[in-house]
Amino acid sequence: MTEEQPIPHHLGGNPVTTRTDATLPVESPLDGAPLGRLGLASSTTVDQAVQQAQRAYENWSHLPSKERVQPLYRFKQLAETHLDDLAETVSRENGKTHAEAKAGLCKGLEVVEFACSLPALEHGGHLEVSPGVDCYTRRFPLGVVAGITPFNFPAMVPLWMFPLAIACGNTFVLKPSEKVPMTPLRLVELLEETGLPPGVMNVCQGDRRTVEAIVEHPAVAALTFVGSTPVARNVYQNGIRTGKRVLALGGAKNHLIAMPDAETALTAKNITASATGCAGQRCMAASVLIAVGECRDLIEAICQEMRQIIPGKHLGAIIDQASKERIEAYIDQAEREGASIRVDGRRVVVAGREKGYYVGPTVIDGATPSAACACDEIFGPVLTILHVDTLDEALAIENASPYGNAASIYTSSGATARYFETRANSGMIGINIGVPVPREPFSFGGWNQSRFGMGDITGEDGLRFWTQGKKITQKWNLSTAQNWMS
Ligand code: NAD
Repeated sequence: MTEEQPIPHHLGGNPVTTRTDATLPVESPLDGAPLGRLGLASSTTVDQAVQQAQRAYENWSHLPSKERVQPLYRFKQLAETHLDDLAETVSRENGKTHAEAKAGLCKGLEVVEFACSLPALEHGGHLEVSPGVDCYTRRFPLGVVAGITPFNFPAMVPLWMFPLAIACGNTFVLKPSEKVPMTPLRLVELLEETGLPPGVMNVCQGDRRTVEAIVEHPAVAALTFVGSTPVARNVYQNGIRTGKRVLALGGAKNHLIAMPDAETALTAKNITASATGCAGQRCMAASVLIAVGECRDLIEAICQEMRQIIPGKHLGAIIDQASKERIEAYIDQAEREGASIRVDGRRVVVAGREKGYYVGPTVIDGATPSAACACDEIFGPVLTILHVDTLDEALAIENASPYGNAASIYTSSGATARYFETRANSGMIGINIGVPVPREPFSFGGWNQSRFGMGDITGEDGLRFWTQGKKITQKWNLSTAQNWMS
């Protein structure tokens, strides 16, 4: 691949590059190799995408759901056949390891599986409400809808959105992160190989300006966004202002609480995997460990586990230089403020990949609960450890976080776990598990400033988000029976 190779949009079934759009170079965080040049969709290009989606909507929305899910069945099989190449594309443009890339794809394909079950799910109720009078509900699509996605899961997060949205009869404009534009293109190509009509799925590459054009477009009926909290809040507020239905998932700062009765070896492995998987660049990553009471052995075991993880081998790259600098600045600040850097991942260079961006596993011990490393989303393989005496003190710290994506506890007591599960202030809870991502059909979504809007993004909440109910009251017999509503 060369620096100048164009990375296209995908509009109405075709790859499209425009001469007028601004462009941006895309490179691999693994080693800095150029991947191509991305066109950034202007409002004119966004409008072309919306028009293609509007044209496709005429037929697509009138197909029965049983027919709409047929390409999705075939897509799941085709994507599984191509799992290795897709994972390679994810790894190349995002920097995560091949195994992590595959796991993200498999998780995304679970949502495709769920979308295929749409015809089998109850869509509405049917009841005789008066003599000879029936009421029933049918669910209808919303129209042209959009999805805006972050860099950290180039396949999984788009797959949270478009399979359900199109199965429900909508047509879709996807705006992937400008840092990972290639995987979503490949997914849409595969989807169209299965017979999905052109225009049902469109990809508009771009950055902030493209997002603004989508949010302002009057023909976009609804959108889901996944990304950082400040942008999620902004997209939510502007989307609502322009009359759209919006669900915007934001950032996170996830707390893991270790009780003194937690099993040491397994807990240390699990916490390490949670903090370092995908190089800590996931919204479900462990970020703060709150050690309750005596946890010296556990912390030593975590440091040992962290030291076994080799950047470039078990640990992927950080997305870009700016992110690497941001992560290292948090570690510098914690050190200046008196915390102990028990495992230090700064200034890592991977031999043969000197132009890649790497931060090694890092453990910051003894920070204060108000320190930046304990409060801000760092989005790197960095675990900050806080010490408290009781579970209630630990819960008070977790509850005070403005975020609310995930929280976990490690304990061998069911009663303690239940106490925590009830009081933690997050949408996804783990018990002896550090990345508590619910598997379909359980839905995905956080609370507080990790989510703006109603409901979760997948599962039955997703189906409700992408549809609207029409309530029909009918009477076909000539009965004269009457009641107050006849
Ligand atoms: P980001 O907010 O920088 O970008 C997300 C999307 O918004 C991209 O498509 C980008 O082009 C666009 N964008 C960026 N700045 C914008 C602006 N000012 N106005 C309008 N659009 C803008 O996020 P990122 O760095 O790509 O992804 C990492 C973030 O995503 C982290 O905060 C992470 O926690 C979050 N995330 C959350 C979840 C979740 O389920 N809650 C899942 C994955 C990632």
